[in-house]
Parts: sequence; structure tokens; C-alpha cells
Amino acid sequence: MMLQQTQTATVIPYFAAFLKRFPNVTALARADRAEVLRMWAGLGYYRRAHHLHDAARHVAFELDGKFPDTVEGLLKLPGVGRYSAGAIASIAFNRRAPILDGNVKRVLARLVASTASPDAPAEVQRLWSLAEDILPQRNCGAFNQALMDLGATICTPKSPRCDACPLTKECAAFRQGVVASIPKPRQRAAVRRQPMVCLLIVAGDHVLVSQRADRGLWAGTWTPPAVDDVGGDAHAIARDALPATILRRMTQLAPCGSVQHQLTHRAVTFAVHTATAPRIRVPAKFRWLPLAERKTLPTAFRKVVALLEEPMPKRSRRAS
Ligand code: SF4
Repeated sequence: MMLQQTQTATVIPYFAAFLKRFPNVTALARADRAEVLRMWAGLGYYRRAHHLHDAARHVAFELDGKFPDTVEGLLKLPGVGRYSAGAIASIAFNRRAPILDGNVKRVLARLVASTASPDAPAEVQRLWSLAEDILPQRNCGAFNQALMDLGATICTPKSPRCDACPLTKECAAFRQGVVASIPKPRQRAAVRRQPMVCLLIVAGDHVLVSQRADRGLWAGTWTPPAVDDVGGDAHAIARDALPATILRRMTQLAPCGSVQHQLTHRAVTFAVHTATAPRIRVPAKFRWLPLAERKTLPTAFRKVVALLEEPMPKRSRRAS
């Protein structure tokens, strides 16, 4: 789950810390959602953490702790799609189940010299069937991993090493000399600009954070209050986003700088405004986060909070 859309080198320290804190499915199922999200902070795509937590709860509380070991059973877990189900069933349980990730798709498309768009539903269906047809009767987990590794290390998107490939005899693209044109380049989705306003309310060495909605960007995480910038001024936004007790006691909001954060399909720009307030009791959806614990924030908001340490003229940051 962690490796979806995220590089292995980034995942390794998160994986180690996550397993140390939640060593089995019951430990994860019993954990508080906020703690799961805290352990995920910085890894991005927070929906995955929600799904993983929901799946652990499903296994622990509804399946008596018995992890499903078939594709059909795995598909019932939140966040588990056809690829994850096939990978878990074949690698963990040695079931005869196909997988089709980006690497495998490319290898198979080249094996049959397919000129179709790799994301066209009919083509995806055809490649799934092919992935199933070529499965051996035994050791499907090893076979699937070998196929993924072949795509990752030999049959790479650019400059595939056909001279080192064990499949040259079977490969139609190699025979026809059309390897470089397969798969057909996909059309990139346009990146959407998303202006946001973020409010940094500081009380000494703490900053005010609120829990974000269960859906949308940074779902369910605790961050400094941040909303879409739809043109209103920061004071009007603060009236909607902050508790009345804070509004009464805080100083005047002042612009503090801007931060850019690149997500896969969105370029977020935060206009950051700051004020100070006494560290008074706040409603349940808010709390005071010690600045020393800022690493528990999603990456974009760590950059936002870092503005507090910068002299005014430098307060413009890019993050990715
Ligand atoms: S021969 Fe070349 S194109 Fe065909 S599967 Fe091997 S590396 Fe990929």
C-alpha cells in the first residue's frame, strides 16, 4: 500500500517505523485513526492510510483476525484493487493469480507488440487476460515478481536492455524492431492550480491545528487551518475557519509569505497569514501542536510552518 505512487527509498523508513508501532493487524485495528495518520505524515496520498486502517479493522473485527487469502476475499478489503489482490494472493499465499502493474503492462504490451493505448479499457482487459494466460501452474508469486523485476530493470520505458532479456525469442516488438514505440505514450492529465489560504495561529512554541475532512486533500490529517482561496480576505476566512474563542483573543492576522506544493495533479499555492493567541482551550476539532512535533504534519504544512523561522523577505517557499 505504501509503495503505490511512492518510491521505495522514501517508503523504507516509514515502513520500518509503521511496523514497529503496529506490529500486527490487531495493533493497527485498535489504533486511533489520528495516530495512524501521524505515522503516515509526509508519505502523501493519505487515503491509503485510511484504507489500510479500515482494512485492518475489517480483518481484526469482522474476520476474527484471519487475513483473506483469495483474490475474491482480498478484493473486499478497503483500498485493495485487482492489482493488490493479485500481488498479495500470489506472493503471500502462492495462489495462481495474475498481476498487472505499470511494469508488467509494458512488458506484456511489448511481448505482443500492442499499439493500443495502454490505458484504454479494452487494452487493460486484454493485458489482464494475457497476464493470466502466461501464469505457470506453480510458483506464481515468484513468476509475478520476476515479471515486475524484468519491467523495472530490463524492459524499462526508455532504452530497454533487450540484449540482456531472456524473452527476445518470444517478444514480437523485438522481432519487428518496434520496441521504442511501445507502449504508446499516454496523455498526461493537466495539472490544476489550487490557491489556498493557510492560517498559522501561534501560541508561544505551539501552533493551532485542526482536523481536516475525511475526504479531499490531506484527508483526516491535523494541519494548520487551510481552505481553498475563493477570493475572500483572510479575516473573513478566519471567521469561518477558527473557533470563536481564538478569534476573540488573537492578534490581527498578518501576511506571512507563500508556499508552493506540487501534488500529482495539482499545484497548490498557500497564501499564509499568521497571528498570535494565548494557548487557551479549543473545541474538539482543534488542538495545539508543539512546534517541536511539526514533523507529524503532512510535508506541505511542514514547509508552511517553517515560514515562521524565516526572515520576512525570504518568506516564499517551493515544496514538492
Ligand atoms: S526483448 Fe526487449 S522489449 Fe521484449 S520483453 Fe525483452 S526487454 Fe522488453
